[in-house]
Amino acid sequence: MVSSLTLFIGPMASGKSLLVIREIDMRRRAGIPVTVLKPKVDTRDARAIASRLGPRVEAHDFDEHVPRFRHLVRDARCIAIDEAQFVSPKLLPLFDEILAEGIELIISGLDLDFRGEPFGLMPEFAKRATKIEALTTYCAVCKQRNATRTQRLIGKDKRPAPYDSPLIQIGGSESYEARCETHHDVPGKP
Ligand SMILES: [Zn+2]
Repeated sequence: MVSSLTLFIGPMASGKSLLVIREIDMRRRAGIPVTVLKPKVDTRDARAIASRLGPRVEAHDFDEHVPRFRHLVRDARCIAIDEAQFVSPKLLPLFDEILAEGIELIISGLDLDFRGEPFGLMPEFAKRATKIEALTTYCAVCKQRNATRTQRLIGKDKRPAPYDSPLIQIGGSESYEARCETHHDVPGKP
C-alpha cells in the first residue's frame, strides 16, 4: 500500500485549520469518508476543528489512551488531525501502523513551540510526510509576510514569556501572536 501523509505546518493564525477543513470537505463531497480527530488538551474544545474565519467540522477527541485511539481509527480510510503538536508520543507506533496500512493521513499543527523549538511529534510527522505545506503569515511587529514563529505574551503589559515558562500554559492570562524569526523574543533562551 502506498502511504500518504499531508502535513500543514506554520505559526498560529496561518490558516492551517482552514486548509484541513478544505481537504475534509473536498473528500466528503466525493463520498470519501474522513475520520476527524483532535487531541484533548486541558479545557480547550477538542470536539471540532474550527477556523477563526468561521467554518468548523465536528471531531472526536482523544488523549494518550491507546485503546481509544485504536477504536477511533478502526476502519478509517482517511484520518484528519488538527493541533497535532499535542498528540502524545505514546501514539507514534500507531501512526506507523496507519501508514503501513495505506490509510491516508492529513495532519496540521504548530511545528515550533513558543520557544521556537520543535513541538511534540511534529518532527516525526515531518519525517513521514509525503507532502509538507509550510505556511507563513504576517509578523505582528514588522508587518512582513515572514512569520514562522508563535510568540507567547504574558501579563497585562504583554511582555514576552521567558524560556522556562511551561510548554502548555493552562488557564493563564497569556496571549499569542505570529512573528518572524527576528522579532521572536524568548528571554532566557540558551
Ligand atoms: Zn518581524
